Amino acid sequence: MRILCVSDQIDPLVYSPRMRERFRDVDLVLAAGDLPGEYLGFITSMLNRPLLYVSGNHDLLRSGSRPPFWIEPAEGPARAEDHGATGLDFKLAREGGLIVLGLPGSMVYNRGPNQFTELSMALRIAALVPRLLWNRLLRGRAVDLVLTHAPPRGVHDRDDPCHRGFRSFLWLMRAFKPRWLVHGHVHLYDLSDVRVSEVGGTTVVNAFGHWILETEEN
Ligand SMILES: [Zn+2]
Repeated sequence: MRILCVSDQIDPLVYSPRMRERFRDVDLVLAAGDLPGEYLGFITSMLNRPLLYVSGNHDLLRSGSRPPFWIEPAEGPARAEDHGATGLDFKLAREGGLIVLGLPGSMVYNRGPNQFTELSMALRIAALVPRLLWNRLLRGRAVDLVLTHAPPRGVHDRDDPCHRGFRSFLWLMRAFKPRWLVHGHVHLYDLSDVRVSEVGGTTVVNAFGHWILETEEN
């Protein structure tokens, strides 16, 4: 399975009339937050593939604002939800044999939308534990891929309150051993910034801009 991950920034390689040929072998799209709904709608209408997204702390999905230099898709204005994009905030989904869990938002810093304290994030993850255990019982694994906006604490995160990662994501990775955790929120400014890290048995990827992930699932 070939997965196009996008996050935080409208990537000119994705937001391009040539994106259909560039990404035609992609099976699934994951959006890790802080992107306008119209951009996600553009991706789904160009690729005609399932797209799962989590909300970021910049609530662009509901703003209705268009990205600069907007190219109108062939079938007219697009909203993410109108084109098969599926919100995954605190939800589990299965796509092509892959179990995906979505965790939105960032650490609280100014009481804006989609901001959580460490405790409120931990409680929301705890509420998902019965379903994760059920998956493990039924399918032999709780979750394959965790899609978040914020990073785990100490992995690709920063020291300021807004960009600090969640400790509860570290617990989640230790307890349920997902193969991937894909996040956004932390902008990458040059090639020396780390994009991919191994944490326990989990590969943590910062999807900033775009990133292609290959899995063994069909
Ligand atoms: Zn963010």
